[in-house]
Amino acid sequence: MNSINKTVTINGRTYNWPKNPVVVVCIDGSEPDYIEQAIAGGHMPFLEKALKNGADLRAHCVVPSFTNPNNLSIVTGRPPAVHGISGNFFLDPDTGEEVMMNDPKFLRAETIFKAFHDAGAKVCVVTAKDKLRRLLGHGLDFSSGRAVSFSSEKADETTMAENGIDNAQKMVGREIPSVYSAELSEFIFDAGVKLMESMRPDLMYLSTTDYIQHKHAPGTPVANQFYAMMDGYFAKLDALGATLALTADHGMNAKHESGGQPDVIFLQEVLDGMLGEEKARVILPITDPYVVHHGALGSFATVYLKDPATAADVAAKLKDLPGIQNVYDRAEGCRVFELPEDRLGDLIVVSDKSKVIGTSADRHDLSQLKEPLRSHGGVTEQTVPLIVTKPVSGLPGGQQLRNFDIFDVALNHVS
Ligand SMILES: [Zn+2]
Repeated sequence: MNSINKTVTINGRTYNWPKNPVVVVCIDGSEPDYIEQAIAGGHMPFLEKALKNGADLRAHCVVPSFTNPNNLSIVTGRPPAVHGISGNFFLDPDTGEEVMMNDPKFLRAETIFKAFHDAGAKVCVVTAKDKLRRLLGHGLDFSSGRAVSFSSEKADETTMAENGIDNAQKMVGREIPSVYSAELSEFIFDAGVKLMESMRPDLMYLSTTDYIQHKHAPGTPVANQFYAMMDGYFAKLDALGATLALTADHGMNAKHESGGQPDVIFLQEVLDGMLGEEKARVILPITDPYVVHHGALGSFATVYLKDPATAADVAAKLKDLPGIQNVYDRAEGCRVFELPEDRLGDLIVVSDKSKVIGTSADRHDLSQLKEPLRSHGGVTEQTVPLIVTKPVSGLPGGQQLRNFDIFDVALNHVS
């Protein structure tokens, strides 16, 4: 078939075959202000110029505005109701155990990369942390020689069988960075440029970590330096003939009091006081092993009730708490946010722009938080950039653009 007219359909959406390499970048935690202020300050000269003809759009991410639900939405083109990944953690209804949702067995949809790869495309997926790489690279047949997927965290452990490349660190030629560093993200872009030079994939996905955004506000020197670093790699990828499409998994807001201490509602304590002990169980789907970023504090929680019949009553009381933006029962919350009902509790609780939700004070180790807390998870971190370095046309009007429309925009609407 003539590749110009070839299309790939996956998860109910149809994508045109790329005319030249398409690189989608998910800049973790990139509140729109970061790029705006970096450009205004002269730190992103490539992007500033590219946007004169390109598209500088805004999109809504998935709520909970967390990393994994959004990365999986971007790479499947659909919300968590379809792909199943609604957070880092969920409560397994069969066992009552809190389970990490980073195993591919929890994924209910195939990725756009797998579909394109199976149709003959060359694909590359590079991300910061290996827990996410396992989900993003799921289903790729590395024996084809046309698929590469690895994390900067474990780039020195890659094999042809598992990652489509032996010793990716050697190709990149850098030390393996700390998981708490800007270099963890820079490694990804360096790898992206080297893969573009050597393999020239049809589709590439680069997904960073929000270590910098958790610690540094838009327009600050460290944030601007990080965006300047990215701009240099964007210019290289552009010079190699790639179309770049940039978005974010979620935004980021300051979530602390004027004295610098985190502005927290300890929801388990609130519910224990309201209902008595062991009547409610609060699950924070932001929880992951990398607590230095955020102390497991975000603006989204789900609650399992011993007596689900009390849900409406409890919801009404929680809505009155200062700093709570909204409380939904499971069905309503899953309808509004397009989430899988079997992986959420009886209530879905969202806090407002400056507040985060915790369980109880003794269950959060905040000693690792060196800077005043910045975090995400709620509706107030839902607006993200959607940027394409080439002119875009023919987007349907009158509907909210989502970050997980980015492959549609980059493959179907770039003129
Ligand atoms: Zn993130």
